Amino acid sequence: MFFKNNKESTIVLPLLPLRDLVIFPHMVVPLFVGRKKSVSVLEEAEKRQHRILLVAQKNPMEENPAPEDIYDVGVVGEILQLLKLPDNTCKVLVEGGERVEVLRYLRQEEFLEVEAQFIEEQVQVTVEVEAMMRSVIQHFEQYVKLSAKLPPETLMSTANIDDPGKLADVVASHLALRFAEKQSILELVNPLERLEHLIEILDNEMEILQIEKSIRGRVKDQMEKNQREYYLGEQMKAIQKELGAKDERTQEIEELKEKIAAAKMSKEAQEKALKEIRRLQQMPPMAAENTVVLNYLDWLVSIPWSKKTREKRDMRRAEKILCEDHYGLEKVKERILEYLAVRHLVRKIKGPILCFVGPPGVGKTSLAQSIARATGRNFVRLSLGGVRDEAEIRGHRRTYVGALPGRIIQSMRKAGSRNPVFLLDEVDKMSTDFRGDPSAALLEVLDPEQNSTFNDHYLEVNYDLSEVLFITTANALHAIPRPLQDRMEVIQIPGYTEEEKIHIAEQFLIKRQLKDHGLKPGNLTFNRQAIAAIIHRYTREAGVRNLNRELATICRKVARRVVREGRHTKVAITARNLHQFLGTQKYHQRQIESENMIGLVTGLAWTEVGGDILTTEVSILPGSGKLTTTGQLGEVMQESAQAALSYVRSKACQMGLPKYFYRKVDIHIHVPEGAIPKDGPSAGITMAAALASALTKRPVRKDVAMTGEITLRGRVLPIGGLKEKVLAAHRAEISTIIIPRQNEKDLKEIPPKVKKVIKFILVEHMDEVLEAALLPEARPGRRTKGGEIDSRQDYRHQPPAPAVY
Ligand code: ADP
Repeated sequence: MFFKNNKESTIVLPLLPLRDLVIFPHMVVPLFVGRKKSVSVLEEAEKRQHRILLVAQKNPMEENPAPEDIYDVGVVGEILQLLKLPDNTCKVLVEGGERVEVLRYLRQEEFLEVEAQFIEEQVQVTVEVEAMMRSVIQHFEQYVKLSAKLPPETLMSTANIDDPGKLADVVASHLALRFAEKQSILELVNPLERLEHLIEILDNEMEILQIEKSIRGRVKDQMEKNQREYYLGEQMKAIQKELGAKDERTQEIEELKEKIAAAKMSKEAQEKALKEIRRLQQMPPMAAENTVVLNYLDWLVSIPWSKKTREKRDMRRAEKILCEDHYGLEKVKERILEYLAVRHLVRKIKGPILCFVGPPGVGKTSLAQSIARATGRNFVRLSLGGVRDEAEIRGHRRTYVGALPGRIIQSMRKAGSRNPVFLLDEVDKMSTDFRGDPSAALLEVLDPEQNSTFNDHYLEVNYDLSEVLFITTANALHAIPRPLQDRMEVIQIPGYTEEEKIHIAEQFLIKRQLKDHGLKPGNLTFNRQAIAAIIHRYTREAGVRNLNRELATICRKVARRVVREGRHTKVAITARNLHQFLGTQKYHQRQIESENMIGLVTGLAWTEVGGDILTTEVSILPGSGKLTTTGQLGEVMQESAQAALSYVRSKACQMGLPKYFYRKVDIHIHVPEGAIPKDGPSAGITMAAALASALTKRPVRKDVAMTGEITLRGRVLPIGGLKEKVLAAHRAEISTIIIPRQNEKDLKEIPPKVKKVIKFILVEHMDEVLEAALLPEARPGRRTKGGEIDSRQDYRHQPPAPAVY
C-alpha cells in the first residue's frame, strides 16, 4: 500500500454518497444535494476545510445507504462553491482530489463519517508508458470526433497531461460509461492498468459509435427525403390552391357527391352514401379500406334508382311485334297479350310471374326479348343454371374480401333502368346446398309483396324491384321448386312439327343468318327439301336451336366462297348437295319396324329436348323366373316393369298361358339406346304390351305407338308431355297412338295437321291396349326363324278400337 508521504496517511472526513455518479481526481462537477444527511455532510465540511469524501453508492435508488451499500474507493473532494437553495437543498461545485479507500465508518446517524486511507500511485514514465499514453490520447481524439456529445474542446483538457494516472482519470471522466464501469476504472489503482483498460474501452466504444453514426446517417437521409416530399407536396397544394384547382381527393369526393345527387336514390340509400362519404373524408388516402368504400359507392351510384324507360301500352303494336318475331305459337302469343293487357289495366300488377316451359330452342328467350321490345322496356337476362348459393342472388356482406352485390343487383346495373324485362333463365336448374337455398331468395325477388324492399347483403339498403317485369324459363316443370311454381303462370311451349320448323327457317332463321354473315339473299338459297333434310338428317330436337346452328354453318361456308369468288356468287342448297356443306348425315330417321314383331313395342318418351320414340323389347328364355331389365332404366321404369309383369301374371289364364308359366322362364326386358338414361312412369303399358306379346306369341302392330302408366290391376293412368310425344310419333311416321283416356283433354293442343294423319285410341284399361295393339297369334306353320313373323302374312284383322279420336 502507498501512503502520502508528506501528509497523514489516513484521513477522517464526512462522506457524501453519490448517486449514479463516479467522481475522478481532477474532475470538477456541480452536484445537487437534497438528502438531509447529505446536506449535513456539507455543513460539517465547512469545519473541515471544505473537504469531504466523495464515494459512489452501489444502488443509486437507495435513499439512506448503509456502509455496505457504498463502494470502498472514492476521492477526497473539495467544495469550491456552495449555494443553499430556498427548498433546503444545496447546489455545490466540487473538485475531485486524491483517491482514497474507506477503512471504517465512525459515524452513521446524523451523517456518515469515515476514516479513509490515501491510495498512493507511483509510476515511472518509461517509453512503454509514454507509448501507451499517446495511444490513449489518439484513441480519445477519435472518440471525441465520432461522439456527438463531446465538444472538440474536451481534447484541450488532455493535451498537456504528462502524468499517466491523471491522463487516465481525465479521459475516463469524459467517457459516457455506465457508472459501475466507471467505478471499476476508479478502483484500478495502477495507472498503467487504467490506461490499458481505457484503450480497450475506447476501442469498443468507437465501434459502437461508428455503427450509431451510420444508422444516424441512414435515418437522416430518409427523414430528409420524406421532409422534402412533404414540403414539395405542400407547395404543390398551395400552388394549386392559388390557381383555383383542388387536390385530387377533394375533387374525387366532390364528383362522388355529384353522382349521388344525380342518381336520385331512395332516401335511405342517399343517407347511407353520404355517411360513407364522411367516412372516406376521415380516412387517410392510402388506407386499404379506401378502395372498399370507393367500390361500394361506385355500385351504389351506378344502379338505376330512378331511371325508367317510357312504357308502351299499345296492344296492337305489341301483337305486331310478337308476330313479327315469331312464327306460330298462337296460343302462347295470345296468353302473353292477355297478360300484358291485365298489367296495363292494373298498372302495378300483383299477379303471377310468366314462366315459359319447354325444350331448348323453342323461342323462350326470344319471346321475352319481344315482350321487352313491345313494352318499351330494356331487356336483361340472368341464367340461374348451376346457382346453388343464396349469396349469388343476394350478394356477400361487405366484410368479405372481394365482396360484390348479388346477380340480381348486378343485372339491374346492366339493365340501366328500374323497369326492365328481367329474364330469369333456367329456374329449374338451380340447386340447393349447405350455403343456403337460392330459391328462397328468388321467391323474395319475385314476390310483389316483398320485392319493393329487396335487400342485397352488399348494398345493405333496400332496392325496389316492383316495377321490373320478371319472366322465367325452364325446361321441365317438375324440376321447378314447388313454392316458385305457385307464383308462376306457366306457359308451355312444347316444340315444333317439322312443317313449323320449315316455316320458321324460311321466314326467320335463314334471313337472320344471311344478315349476320353479311350475305345477300341472292348469294344463298335453300329449297324446301333441303330444309327438311337438314331437320331430318342433322338435327333431332324439339326446338330450332341446332337447325339454326346448321344454317349458320352453311352460311359461313358460303361466305368464304363469296369472299373467294366475288360478290355475285350464287349457291343453291338442295337435299342432294347438303352433305358438301354439313358433312355426313348425323341422324338416321328413326324408322318404325318394317314388320309386325313379337315382343317388340314402340313407346313414346318425353325428354328435356322434346319427345322421342323408344322401342321396348321382351325376350322369353327358358329359366327359373328371373326378370332382367337393361338399357339404363331408372328406378321408376324398373318398377313399371315389375308392375307390368304382375299384371300379365294376374291375367295368365285369360291369355291362355299356363298358371305358373313364369317359373320356367326368364324374362328379359330391354330398351335399346343404352347410352341414354331413361326414366318415368309412362312406359308401363308399353312394357306390359311387349310382355304379353312375347308370352302369347301374338305379334304387335308395327304402326302403333303407345304411352301410359299402368297399375297392378291394369288400369291405365294419364301421362305428361303428350304434345311432345305425339310430335315425335309424327316424325317417325306412326299412324296410331294409344293414349290414356284421361289425357283426352290434351289433344286440343295437338296441331290439326298432325291430328289429321294420326289415329288416337283412348284407353282406360290394359285389356283395351292389348286388343288394339296385338294381332292374333301367328299360325305355327308360317312363323319365320327367330320367332319373327313373315311380313307377307295377312294380319289385316283389326280389332274394333275402343275409342278413336
Ligand atoms: P330458348 O330460349 O327456348 O332456348 P331461343 O329463344 O334462344 O330458345 O330460340 C332459339 C332461336 O330460335 C332464336 O334465334 C329464336 O329467334 C328462334 N326461334 C324459336 N322459335 C321461333 C319461332 N316460333 N319463330 C321464329 N323464330 C324462332
